[in-house]
Amino acid sequence: MLAESADALMYDGVDIEVGRKIYHMLDQGFALLNQRKRADIIMAVFLADLLRNTGIGPNVDECAICGEKKISAISVRDGGFLCADCAGKQGMLLNSVTRLKQFRLICKADMDKYDIVESCVSDCREDVGLLLAILKEHGNIEIRSFGLYNRLFCH
Ligand SMILES: [Zn+2]
Repeated sequence: MLAESADALMYDGVDIEVGRKIYHMLDQGFALLNQRKRADIIMAVFLADLLRNTGIGPNVDECAICGEKKISAISVRDGGFLCADCAGKQGMLLNSVTRLKQFRLICKADMDKYDIVESCVSDCREDVGLLLAILKEHGNIEIRSFGLYNRLFCH
């Protein structure tokens, strides 16, 4: 899944510096897996870093629609956080503060920060699902090996 998502975003003509960064992240991801670190955290941080490096990372600093700083929900379609007003207008359920904080932490982290993320979160499967949905919605890329990942790590 790490390799498939890196490959999907290393399209022809990708900036060479971005390409190098993605290769390095992939190397770090495999090294962490080799050390038997947690697959859900590796995958979540890798996806967040990948999305950020390719310009489709979610906006986790303010409401993605109106810029309000007090945020209440995560919207895949709008590519980031929403305030209670904007979420309400779309009939979306609000997320808990813990959920929002965890998603923000992951979206701000990179592979070097694996240990910090591991010490703060208990389960990243929902974040992986959200990041994959954002990749599909905003990058038009579907990761087929997600099914295998789910069977291996989510039961
Ligand atoms: Zn708003």
